[in-house]
Amino acid sequence: MKGKIGVTSENLFPIIKKFLYSDHDIFLREIVSNAVDASQKLKTLASAGKYSEQIDELKVRVTLDKTQKTLTVSDNGIGMTAEEVEKYINQIAFSGANEFLEKYKNDANAIIGHFGLGFYSSFMVSEEVEIITKSYQKDSKAVRWVCDGSPEYMMEETEKEQTGTDIIMHLNSDSMEFLEENRISELLNKYCKFLPVPVIFGKKKEWKDGKYEDTETDNQINDVAPAWTKKPVDLKEEDYNKFYSQLYPMADEPLFNIHLNVDYPFNLTGILYFPKLKNNFEVQKNKIQLYSNQVFVTDSVEGIVPEFLTLLHGVLDSPDIPLNVSRSYLQNDSNVRKISSHITKKVADRLQEIFKEKRAELEEKWSDLKLFIEYGMLTDEKFYEKALKFFFFTNTEKKLFTWDEYKALIEGNQTDKNKKLVYLYATNVEAQFSFIEAAKSKGYDVLLMDDVLATPLLNHFEQKYPESHFVRVDADVAEKLIVKEDADEPHLTAEEKNELSPIFQSVIPKERGQFIIDFQNLGAEGAPMVITQNEFMRRMKDMSKMQAGMSFYGEMPDSYNLVVNLSHPLVKKVLDEKETQLKGKLTKFKAELSKLNDQKASLEKLKEGKKEEEIPQEEKDLLNETKENISKIEASKREKLEGFGSGNPLANQLVDLAFLANNMLKGEALANFVKRSIELIK
Ligand code: ADP
Repeated sequence: MKGKIGVTSENLFPIIKKFLYSDHDIFLREIVSNAVDASQKLKTLASAGKYSEQIDELKVRVTLDKTQKTLTVSDNGIGMTAEEVEKYINQIAFSGANEFLEKYKNDANAIIGHFGLGFYSSFMVSEEVEIITKSYQKDSKAVRWVCDGSPEYMMEETEKEQTGTDIIMHLNSDSMEFLEENRISELLNKYCKFLPVPVIFGKKKEWKDGKYEDTETDNQINDVAPAWTKKPVDLKEEDYNKFYSQLYPMADEPLFNIHLNVDYPFNLTGILYFPKLKNNFEVQKNKIQLYSNQVFVTDSVEGIVPEFLTLLHGVLDSPDIPLNVSRSYLQNDSNVRKISSHITKKVADRLQEIFKEKRAELEEKWSDLKLFIEYGMLTDEKFYEKALKFFFFTNTEKKLFTWDEYKALIEGNQTDKNKKLVYLYATNVEAQFSFIEAAKSKGYDVLLMDDVLATPLLNHFEQKYPESHFVRVDADVAEKLIVKEDADEPHLTAEEKNELSPIFQSVIPKERGQFIIDFQNLGAEGAPMVITQNEFMRRMKDMSKMQAGMSFYGEMPDSYNLVVNLSHPLVKKVLDEKETQLKGKLTKFKAELSKLNDQKASLEKLKEGKKEEEIPQEEKDLLNETKENISKIEASKREKLEGFGSGNPLANQLVDLAFLANNMLKGEALANFVKRSIELIK
């Protein structure tokens, strides 16, 4: 008998052959999973008492015939009667086909999933496809169906002993790769590794006489009952780890697992693992795999799993996730959205449970886990709320504290005069050592926040809790990190400041950034000088490295404060030396400046109440001249002070020591420092 395949299939074959070409691998998944379905259906019928013949061991076989150039998938499942072939294979009914094909012409999965065109995908690789099938129903005749990919097909009665179906694909000349054993093994391993019915591909091989030889044993390529299909109570830790290495043979043992098992409001099973990351944010090549009834669908789960969880490993299996995993489909699917928030909840609950039951283990693995959790807290509000219960702060002594514990620890001593709780942190224990020590000597605790997400995370905390404030230990001198009462600051007049700043400014080379000189009384025991970096500016710069649109901050030069401790004997010594060396000059400058300033003041007084054109030109000229003279004298005063500073070994030494304490003295400056130190010791 001959016939013509359903109406719109003339549109279909060119589409399958052309547009789907890039994804043509999936044909094998489609044909093998049809065979698996047919096997399972027979099993179901048998157990419902609707099929009384003895069912042979149900198996799907994949075979290659290089001479015939065929790839065959055989099953001993329910088979089809001639009517069923007519109904299921010939008359594929679909509506709105053209519109749909136009929309998804570049997405093979979407087309195939939407139409249930699984079987037809075999035409992507075949010049002719044959079906030889015999239904399980009593007295049914075997049927042979042949089609070359045009809408015409041929169907006839044939001989077949066993119930079941053979799909024989006569591969086309572009698809010869599918005659290679390795290629088929690869595909079966990718798509069929966990199908629920044994899939056999050739025989197991054995190393014999210098080569591999077939044994008598069937080579079953799949595990019919992977761990996620079992009940959590039946699985031990090692079973989970074994399954993990089945999924990712090369990966290190995972940190924790989460077994998902939901049947309402949708079906979802799976096992997720927190992997051990080898370094911060390494690109993950092992991804979460998505299955639908144990058939592999994809390993790009973006859109199904919340973004921060795409860093996890493992499998998800849900018949409710449409097979056609095109992005636009997923985003509009309400089940998918529910699945996503459910997974987030499950992951948070599981971590909470581990925290309650095995806190020590969680602490031990925290350094590997924290990036996931921080990332989740930053990107998912619901997760943030739950995570606050098991998130750990780590301090510079490597002790771990929950949010509440840490708050309780510092509340007493680290609340400032505005009732803000000040969290002190370091980003590098080595580089900020002297600041950490200084803070500790005040009885403060210092957190270590050294991973890539630290800055956004503490911004997030500050937004959530406006009464808390994060300050890096080098943001100010220890005395002023947490301002508890208005401190006793040295009262310097503007003139005094003008006289002191150039001395120290002259010692700092321009290329080290912008420095503001600040004066403090830090006591005779405090450091003579300290370099600090304003928290706000520094954090903005740090953020600009991570975020587009903040380059304004990124381009600003680094800006620091050089805090000079006026009560330190060595600083006093520098100032005394200045007095001895420059006293005469400075007194002269002072006298001249005071004369000129008086002159300026009286000239300005004359101008008062007059319009511009009423002022005699002479007076104007004199005022300008006076102003110029003032600037000149100020400039030479400044020059003198700078000359004094840069030529003063002690001032240089003290500034360099401050740089050294900040890990900022490098290269030539460091070499000069060493030379000068030797000179000073001699
Ligand atoms: P889908 O599997 O999405 O329904 P297919 O085009 O793959 O679409 O298959 C259409 C129908 O053909 C199936 O639903 C099934 O009834 C029948 N069929 C396909 N392959 C087999 C098989 N190996 N054994 C029995 N029936 C099959």
